[in-house]
Amino acid sequence: MGCHLWTVTIVSKEEMDTLFDGGEGNEVPLGLTLTHECRICVRDDPCESVRWHAFWHEFVHVLTASAGLSKIDKNEDLVELLGMLIAQAQQTME
Ligand SMILES: [Zn+2]
Repeated sequence: MGCHLWTVTIVSKEEMDTLFDGGEGNEVPLGLTLTHECRICVRDDPCESVRWHAFWHEFVHVLTASAGLSKIDKNEDLVELLGMLIAQAQQTME
């Protein structure tokens, strides 16, 4: 994205828990963006359509942050909606 090369890693729920480090009792997220590593992580345990949804959600974070749209990047509801719409578009193209 932009002048940075991003990678996507599929990780186990346990790996995600370690990466997320959200503390005891917090839900382990399905996807995670590690901005400092230019890396998007997606969990391997949900079904394929949920994994894609998680990927597109994280992609929208990266896209909006890269485009300087930090207000959108920090609006989790809007990011979720945009990620879902992109996943829906992808699924209907197949
Ligand atoms: Zn998010």
